[in-house]
Amino acid sequence: MPGEPAFHQQCQCHCGAAAFEVQRAPLMRFICHCTICQRFNGTPFADMVVLRSDGVVPPADGTVDFGTYRPPPAVQRGKCATCNKPAIEFMRLPLMPALTFVPAANFADAAALPAPRLHTFYDKRVADIDDGLPKHRGYLKSQLAFARAFYPAWWRTRGVE
Ligand SMILES: [Zn+2]
Ligand SMILES: [Zn+2]
Repeated sequence: MPGEPAFHQQCQCHCGAAAFEVQRAPLMRFICHCTICQRFNGTPFADMVVLRSDGVVPPADGTVDFGTYRPPPAVQRGKCATCNKPAIEFMRLPLMPALTFVPAANFADAAALPAPRLHTFYDKRVADIDDGLPKHRGYLKSQLAFARAFYPAWWRTRGVE
C-alpha cells in the first residue's frame, strides 16, 4: 500500500487454536490499565496493538467466543474457544474507522511491532510503571489520547483498501 510499510504476521492465542493473519501495518500500540482489560486479560494491564480491521483476516468461525463487557456493545472482545485466553477484539464506533485490537503477545514476531505510545486509564493501574511514556487518567482523557495517537496513522492510509 502506498505510504504504508509492508507488514505481514500470523497471530494466535496462547494455545494456537484461534489463529488469524494481519496484513497491514499496525496503526499504534498502547498499554491500557482499565478494569475491563484487567479482567478480560487476567493481567494488571493490556499491551494492545491497534489495527485497521480491513487489514485483518479474522479467525475461523467457532474458534473465538465473543463477548461484550460494557454497554453499548462497541467492542467485541474475543477469547479462544479452546484455551479461553484473549485472542482478538473488534471495535465499531460511530464516526470512527473499524478497528481491531490484538494483544502484542499474540503476534508471531512481537519484536517487529512498534513500541507502545502511551498508557490509558492509568488511574486504574495496579502498579506504577516507570517507562517515560505519557500516562492518561480517566475516561475522557484516555479516549482522547487514544484517538490522537491512532488517527494520524489511519488518516495516512485511508482510501487505499
Ligand atoms: Zn487458544
Ligand atoms: Zn482497557
